[in-house]
Amino acid sequence: MTARLVLLGPPGAGKGTQAAKVAAALGIPTISTGDLFRSNIKGGTPLGRKVQEYTSRGALVPDSVTNEMVRDRLAQDDAAEGFLLDGYPRNVAQVAELDAILADTGAQLDLAVELVADPDVVVPRLLKRAEVEGREDDTEDVIRHRLDVYARETALI
Ligand code: ADP
Repeated sequence: MTARLVLLGPPGAGKGTQAAKVAAALGIPTISTGDLFRSNIKGGTPLGRKVQEYTSRGALVPDSVTNEMVRDRLAQDDAAEGFLLDGYPRNVAQVAELDAILADTGAQLDLAVELVADPDVVVPRLLKRAEVEGREDDTEDVIRHRLDVYARETALI
């Protein structure tokens, strides 16, 4: 069975947790743009060096960089029969790019799911995660900025 899915939701809604379960159940890879950026930053790659100034302050990485990374990832063999996108698309331009990528391969999206969570719930949740995982963007100021970016850019798509 093919399954091409998109998971949307504000920071702290539980996208990563749900994505892992759904992808495992369906036998498809999870493609998390946030995870891809973090592993590049950790590995000190040129891409990682380029994006850290954005991820550290909770700003969106420029579309040109993000779109190219996603296009390359979706072209890999393991995504041919399906995928779960976690954290992409995140604005209107990225929606257009995803449409173009899918059109190029003749594939169609099956489902987009939006997780909803109250900011009063996610801020303490992410501050707790900061203690465990030490993500540099899980400080209160940056969390609130990420929530604003989500409301302004992503919630509308
Ligand atoms: P969260 O949803 O909790 O903010 P993510 O792991 O999805 O966390 O994203 C972390 C950061 O990576 C974002 O704040 C942003 O800087 C960058 N990022 C992730 N996905 C995208 C995207 N689709 N477009 C631009 N930047 C992105």
